[in-house]
Amino acid sequence: MGAMMGAAGSLWFLNLFWWPYTPLFHVNTYNFTFDLFYTTLVGVWFLFAYGLFYVAIWDQRYRCRTCLRKLRMPIETGSWGYMLQLGRPQIEYICPYGHGKLNIDEVQISGVTSPEWTEQGDIWQELFAASSTNDGEPDRER
Ligand SMILES: [Zn+2]
Repeated sequence: MGAMMGAAGSLWFLNLFWWPYTPLFHVNTYNFTFDLFYTTLVGVWFLFAYGLFYVAIWDQRYRCRTCLRKLRMPIETGSWGYMLQLGRPQIEYICPYGHGKLNIDEVQISGVTSPEWTEQGDIWQELFAASSTNDGEPDRER
């Protein structure tokens, strides 16, 4: 969404400077064919818009699949020396609200592997369940 608005907004800004009025969010085709400078700027705009979309998609990788918040607390797991016990080195991110964790391989040998998302149950549910069996009373010695 943000990428689309950014691309459309910058094209509108560019069209402000050329006289034959173009409707919003359209490339001015008359100037595009006759004005080399305008053609160049539209080319630059295209690259810029492409970059915005690339960043937006790249950013999605590091977000929680449930609540879309940024994943936090990267830690390294695994080790090359103890590969059989601990697995290959990966970087593990977690959602601050405990929806799940994301493991990304440190070395991507067989092309770009898609990161592994593990969904976890609602941690708060578990806490409330524990406190309701206890009736909210802390354990006392009698
Ligand atoms: Zn989440």
